[in-house]
Amino acid sequence: MDPVIQQILDRYRRIWALGHAQLLMGWDLETYMPEEGVKARSEASAELSLLRQELILSLKDLVEKADKREGLDDLEKGIVRVLKRSIKFYSAIPPDLLRELDRITSEAPVVWREAKRSSDYPKFRPYLAKIVDLERQVAEKLGYEGHPYNALLDLYEEGFTVREADSIFSTLIPGLKSTFDKVAERGYFPSSHPLEEFQYEVESMAKVNQEVLKLLDMPKGRFRMDVSAHPFTEGISVDDVRITTRYEGKDFRATLFSVIHESGHAIYELQIDRSLEMTPVGGGVSMGIHESQSRFWENVIGRSREFVFLIYPTLKEHLTFLEGYGEEDVYKYFNIVKPSPIRVDADEVTYNFHIALRYEIEKGLIGGSTDVSDLPSMWNDYMDKYLHYRPRNDGEGVLQDIHWSQGSFGYFPTYTLGNVVAALIRSHLPNLRDLVRERRFTEIKEFLREKIHKYGSIYPPKELLRRSFGEVYNPAHLLSYLSDKYLR
Ligand code: MG
Repeated sequence: MDPVIQQILDRYRRIWALGHAQLLMGWDLETYMPEEGVKARSEASAELSLLRQELILSLKDLVEKADKREGLDDLEKGIVRVLKRSIKFYSAIPPDLLRELDRITSEAPVVWREAKRSSDYPKFRPYLAKIVDLERQVAEKLGYEGHPYNALLDLYEEGFTVREADSIFSTLIPGLKSTFDKVAERGYFPSSHPLEEFQYEVESMAKVNQEVLKLLDMPKGRFRMDVSAHPFTEGISVDDVRITTRYEGKDFRATLFSVIHESGHAIYELQIDRSLEMTPVGGGVSMGIHESQSRFWENVIGRSREFVFLIYPTLKEHLTFLEGYGEEDVYKYFNIVKPSPIRVDADEVTYNFHIALRYEIEKGLIGGSTDVSDLPSMWNDYMDKYLHYRPRNDGEGVLQDIHWSQGSFGYFPTYTLGNVVAALIRSHLPNLRDLVRERRFTEIKEFLREKIHKYGSIYPPKELLRRSFGEVYNPAHLLSYLSDKYLR
């Protein structure tokens, strides 16, 4: 190891330990913490974040020194690259701006919740206007080439730009529209299914979920699943990865697919090379790549006919209401295609329309061509254009997501990247259907480990994809995956 890099790593251990504690605190907050602990927990977290920021900034001189060293290998370069990104962020954004963002994004979700409940966009609008203004300042401070939105996209997906996003969506949207229209015409995949209405017992469904985890061979000693309001994954260390699910009591797809989705995230974290633990490159590389893993397992595998046939006996054993519904019924129920106004309820065919419209709106807001007062009508026009559906009110329209109230601008497009990359991966596994049918999940995991997981964040996302698959964000694979599945 280069001596300067070694010095960095020695000092990084403390930052890693701090992150470890923060992750655990975050997990506890969402799972087992008594409700009223929230105030102290938020204060403690905020203090630790400041400490983390100080410790990272204290590495500035060493990282600059390392950056000038000759002959660094890929791992060493990766360490320098990842630290430079954090240092750049903390040095570029003035503490006052961060504090103001912090303050408004802790108030705004409360206002948003109320505004959504009463479908009252004007109530939320001034908060959104303020957040957009601050996000534009963040973009200016960070600096960018081309469009200011590039600065924000890069925070979630390193190196991802408006130019690339425009190119993806301009291919994807017409292709998806044509697939969507044909699916409706052919009528094989239904727009609703009686199984959506059946109530399940949480205990029975929990057993199904445990069986699915067993089938995916999730390692017992290094992994656990709990319950939280919103499902998530936390990779606390390579030997301690946790997911959560929720039980809504009805429409059993929701909990089942959240388990498979989060397992996809977890498998990524569990398969990062052990030697990267306690280093700056020991986590998943980006939101888009992480989401590609969860969506590959959830959609490409979990919603396939082969997978349904595999788990059908387990479903039948624990869910008595399946009496009279065969494998093919369950397959259709898992793959309902309908123009839902709500993103989180959207199916594989329509999901990316929801992202495209958010992308266009965010790009306009950050670029200055769209004003927050234009949003409701802009939103509804896009919904009409893509899905032939006009939201009945702003609660099921522009106010449906919490993200903007939390100051997340640039995050939504990573969901589409996840879908695009999941389909790219599928195109490199021509025998995937056999692998699933024959329960050869270890082989699938091994493939993902070699192509993506083991590298952690050593390579930036586009370089990782180029090295492993020879191409980057080509939406053609997603379009052919969807037409293969839904139109054949
Ligand atoms: Mg996810």
